[in-house]
Amino acid sequence: MKDARELLSSGTGPKAMSYDGSPGGPSTEAILAALAYVHHGLGRELMEALWWPESGARRREQLRQEVIGLVAPEFTRQMHALADARTSFGIAKACIGWTGGQTTEKQRRELRRTEQALDDARAAAWPNNTMEQLGVLAAAVINEMAGRCECPGCGGKKVVTDPDVSGVVKCPRCAGSGYDPFSGRRRAAAIGADCSAYSRFWRPVYEWMLASFSAAEARAVVQFNKALTQAA
Ligand SMILES: [Zn+2]
Repeated sequence: MKDARELLSSGTGPKAMSYDGSPGGPSTEAILAALAYVHHGLGRELMEALWWPESGARRREQLRQEVIGLVAPEFTRQMHALADARTSFGIAKACIGWTGGQTTEKQRRELRRTEQALDDARAAAWPNNTMEQLGVLAAAVINEMAGRCECPGCGGKKVVTDPDVSGVVKCPRCAGSGYDPFSGRRRAAAIGADCSAYSRFWRPVYEWMLASFSAAEARAVVQFNKALTQAA
């Protein structure tokens, strides 16, 4: 059987709708019936946007809501973590010399700990204007998903054989995604940033979105595939 994504792509669309599927493959009706078994959510919206653009174009608002629903809670969590770390560092600083007494080793340790925690939270936090840039980021990530090719290192298998461990290991070239990632330069251009701004600020949120979107789409494809197989 053809790949489920290819089926969705070839079995829908204006050309496919004019006749009853391709010879030997499932009919357009069977494909649409199977699609109904795929849970609503980001994965399904992405699957339609990528492989059935006519439907995706009608569902832009749903896709937007799903993207916001995924990214906004993580952004809020990071902002809270940063605020908590800043508060703890401020308290540790204030405690030193609060009563005019000698600074204790315990207070110094707490100051170092909270300062490090604040640095870590700062380093992990996405840019402040992430939500303002969400539309641009999402479009670039979806465009990469649509245009990326199989990783030449592993042929899309996500793993490579490693004679040292006489087994398979995660493909180092694609970090186990199975796809050849776009270059930083290309991603930077897609989000309207320069290369250094991409790698300093935007790369973590871009890669997080790409990994999350890809996983959600892959889960939807599995459900779609299962429904198609069961119907066949
Ligand atoms: Zn690979």
